[in-house]
Amino acid sequence: MSLIEMDHIHKRFGSLEVLKDCTMHVEEGEVVSIIGPSGSGKSTFLRCLCNLEIIDGGTIIVGGDVMTRQPQGVNRSIYAPSSQVHKICLRMGMCFQHFNLFPHMTVLDNILEAPRVVQGKKTEEIMPIAEALLKKVGLWDKCNVYPSRLSGGQKQRVAIARALAMNPDIMLFDEPTSALDPELTGEVLRTIKQLADDNMTMIIVTHEMAFAKEVSKRILFMAEGIIEEEGTPEQIFEHPKSARTKNFLKSML
Ligand code: ADP
Ligand code: MG
Repeated sequence: MSLIEMDHIHKRFGSLEVLKDCTMHVEEGEVVSIIGPSGSGKSTFLRCLCNLEIIDGGTIIVGGDVMTRQPQGVNRSIYAPSSQVHKICLRMGMCFQHFNLFPHMTVLDNILEAPRVVQGKKTEEIMPIAEALLKKVGLWDKCNVYPSRLSGGQKQRVAIARALAMNPDIMLFDEPTSALDPELTGEVLRTIKQLADDNMTMIIVTHEMAFAKEVSKRILFMAEGIIEEEGTPEQIFEHPKSARTKNFLKSML
């Protein structure tokens, strides 16, 4: 059994069919990157996994726990009770393109907030963890600063530390460097690489092809709501099979 099993996922927005029977399994400790043109459904697929979108059909099982499944003969996906879905989602940390830090809180309070509110932990209890995480992303010296005083790269590293403070087993990244000036992407990619080296299970939607190649065990190419092709970085980047994959990769050069 894989850590993450998403089988036959269907998702519509009104009459627009955004995910058409998408299946992805991710093993513990594996890093999978999802690439593909804008509008192909990459964000939606990731958002379905962490319950930010409700799926219309298919099965999602994380660590053996059923989040939602579609029994045979039923024309929709049936979710587990919300407490079970919540418990599953707590295993996942998510980082978005636009950081979404709390602007009215210092860097340190951004890190402490969720463990305090969601996990009911005391500040003293999480302080050492927050300190270690901010040191890990190289921003302990900024702990009392407000997000508006940080560069985009620093904001994203705080967002990563904030997600890690909930001690997730799985990290999801949706174009974590797309909003950054080119000179700031390196520091964020290095932070994500560190997590990969620590064997964190990760799914990364990215346009950074060189990075995807370096860090991923497997690459999924999505186009128009389907997973068009998947394979090792070598298979996808050196020997793509489908014409759509080839064209996309050419357009990224
Ligand atoms: P990607 O991340 O690959 O760029 P998305 O998953 O964001 O693609 O979007 C896939 C398609 O779904 C696009 O056509 C987009 O406009 C549409 N879409 C995404 N979110 C919504 C929404 N909340 N309501 C309606 N359409 C949406
Ligand atoms: Mg997207």
